[in-house]
Amino acid sequence: MDNELKQVVEQAQAEAAGVSDIPTLQALRAKYLGKKGPLAAFFARMKDVPADQRRAFGQSVNEARSQVEAIFQSAHEALEAKALAAKLERERVDITLPGHGPVTGTVHPYTKVVNLLTDFFVGQGYVVKDGPEVESDYFNFECLNIPADHPARDMQDSFFLEGGNLLRSHTSPVQARTMQDHTIELPFKIICPGKVYRRDNDATHSHQFGQIEGLCIGEDASLANLERTLTDMFKYLFGDKAEARFRPSFFPFTEPSIECDVSCFECHGKGCGLCKGSGWIEVLGAGMVNPDVFRLNGIDAEKYQGFAFGIGIDRMAMLLYGIDDIHRFYQDDLPFLKQFGKR
Ligand SMILES: [Zn+2]
Repeated sequence: MDNELKQVVEQAQAEAAGVSDIPTLQALRAKYLGKKGPLAAFFARMKDVPADQRRAFGQSVNEARSQVEAIFQSAHEALEAKALAAKLERERVDITLPGHGPVTGTVHPYTKVVNLLTDFFVGQGYVVKDGPEVESDYFNFECLNIPADHPARDMQDSFFLEGGNLLRSHTSPVQARTMQDHTIELPFKIICPGKVYRRDNDATHSHQFGQIEGLCIGEDASLANLERTLTDMFKYLFGDKAEARFRPSFFPFTEPSIECDVSCFECHGKGCGLCKGSGWIEVLGAGMVNPDVFRLNGIDAEKYQGFAFGIGIDRMAMLLYGIDDIHRFYQDDLPFLKQFGKR
């Protein structure tokens, strides 16, 4: 190949190497390989070349043309590869970044206790019953053996409404409503979780709190059955080491009545701040259903006996989770509520 052709190839090589984008490269390629390019000029000179050298000359020009085409081809491929690499880099997804999971709430400690106790009692064959929160004097007091002049009414300072109704001061009216419901066959076992209202307000009392009332009626339901049920419930809530203690008490709707304490799960009976040094924590009231309550609600008191108990939901949650103030249940304090997990 003569020097002139070599120069053209070298110049094409040098210029192509300096190009950084494809349109410029294509323009440059057209400049070298187009009709007005240096290689076309060589072909035009063909007619002036002596006949015996024409074949060799033609071969040299063709060879130079092939080389220039190859130069531009490889430059084009290099630019394409570079552009692809840049695009991949630009659009790279960092798979090590944490994802955006859905935000879910947590279960309120009050609800957790309701769920726990419901699980336990349903497992024991109890049925969950519900009732109105605005209750009549009759269901809230009268048919639970608390007549108008009974001093036990003073134990439940209530919110009375116009027309003689009140915000129910306990969940016991649901018991009376169930006993009077003739579609429900005896014997039966029910629990009644729900909100109740009293005019109370300090660190352990709120005007609104939750109760789960339980009632078991059968021909041979006994105090021993009641004590076993409550002892099992404590072990379910507080662990196998939990013990129950029963003391005599008074409620107008049960006879005999008992107060029930659980062994302190902080100190296991040694005495600490939680149990005020006694080793026991007062948890609930219970007893055998007073036959007068049966009579007031149309149940044969000669044939049937039963036991009942009332558990404070908020109080149980305070004990289980170490909560110091009952008002925390109603303050919508997210950092407080988020401690309780999703189940
Ligand atoms: Zn203790």
